[in-house]
Amino acid sequence: MPRVKNWKEISPHIAPQKKAKKTWGRKIHETYDVGDCKYCNKDIDSDMSFVVFATKEPAHFRCYQKDYEKENRKNIYL
Ligand SMILES: [Zn+2]
Repeated sequence: MPRVKNWKEISPHIAPQKKAKKTWGRKIHETYDVGDCKYCNKDIDSDMSFVVFATKEPAHFRCYQKDYEKENRKNIYL
């Protein structure tokens, strides 16, 4: 029968996880539907990174970033 003297050495991830649970345990994470993305027309959940325009149109942050970079490049080459 193998003997384990220091279990922390074998599974170092267990201890920090326990600590994190205490600080984050109170808040229940809820997601809601933000709407359809302005760029790709797919659903956006509130736990994703997204932006909302002044026109109240939501968009994925990644889609927005892509478009922003495209616009920037256009400005550089024109
Ligand atoms: Zn999108």
